[in-house]
Amino acid sequence: MSTKAKNDEYLLDLTSRVYKVVVEHGNGGVLQSELWKELDLTSRDGSRIAIRLEKRGMIKRDKMLQGGRWTYRLTPLRFPVQIKSIEEAPCMTCPDEERCSPSGVVTPHTCAFIENWVTMDFKPMAIPQKQLIS
Ligand code: SF4
Repeated sequence: MSTKAKNDEYLLDLTSRVYKVVVEHGNGGVLQSELWKELDLTSRDGSRIAIRLEKRGMIKRDKMLQGGRWTYRLTPLRFPVQIKSIEEAPCMTCPDEERCSPSGVVTPHTCAFIENWVTMDFKPMAIPQKQLIS
């Protein structure tokens, strides 16, 4: 595997780990400094990943003052039904992610990949028709 491919794979893995931790903290979110500690990330790498996830509409970053220092609280905007499905989130491997933003031509608001991903997650949870009839 080339160095670039290894770096890309590393970055994808980190991105899904960051998203997973944010989702695990639920609606209350998590301070990014806590998250960097939890994942042993530098604030530079962590901030880059958080900005990527925000750009894709997967998390929200709210600037806040904490202990006299500015930081961000990260909260999830999308909740996968199952945490394990985060690794399969289409944004993690999307070739269009560089161009994708909430106000762009390529946008999560109209993304068929996201829609399919959510739908696939819901399928196993659907109540079989037989159970509804009886
Ligand atoms: S186009 Fe869809 S899958 Fe790709 S990064 Fe944007 S929201 Fe994610």
